[in-house]
Amino acid sequence: MIDQEKIQEAARLIIEAIGEDAEREGLKCTPARIGRMYEEIMAGYSQDPSEILSTFFAADDDSPVIEKDITFYSMCEHHMLPYFGKAHIAYIPDGKVVGISKLARCVEIYARRLQIQEHMTAQIADCLMEVLSPKGVMVVLEAEHTCMTMRGVKKPGSRTVTIASRGIIRDDEVLQDRFLKLLTSRS
Ligand code: ZN
Repeated sequence: MIDQEKIQEAARLIIEAIGEDAEREGLKCTPARIGRMYEEIMAGYSQDPSEILSTFFAADDDSPVIEKDITFYSMCEHHMLPYFGKAHIAYIPDGKVVGISKLARCVEIYARRLQIQEHMTAQIADCLMEVLSPKGVMVVLEAEHTCMTMRGVKKPGSRTVTIASRGIIRDDEVLQDRFLKLLTSRS
């Protein structure tokens, strides 16, 4: 659980450290607002994605399941600034499929933790492998990092793409290529 008192104290300290007046009208309630905000944007720590995925259905069909354009917002662990974009997931089932909304929930839980995009991509793929034991998985994340666009190198609109593949999608180059095209094509 999130320690509200600590977050609010930290927010107040940052406000003071940049030379602002923490007591002025506009800033007076800001630490409390930040505390409540962190409760929401860091909610992933108290949730278990494998639990979400564990309500699956039996399926004897092994045609791929593809879910594209799952919007997510996360926070980079290096700057604690937002990065946001789309997640695309594909898996080839081996007897188990999950409801489409569960994939989005899984993405959201990992996004609501301090992350780097590479880890988030791998964690989603590993979680799917672990819970559904599919024949293969591919996860592609495309995101804009505000730590790169509003500061530092300042390249607005640049996107970072990360890819994780597992099982036969990783082992078979032709399959990997086909899924990458499916997940990154604009339709
Ligand atoms: Zn960053």
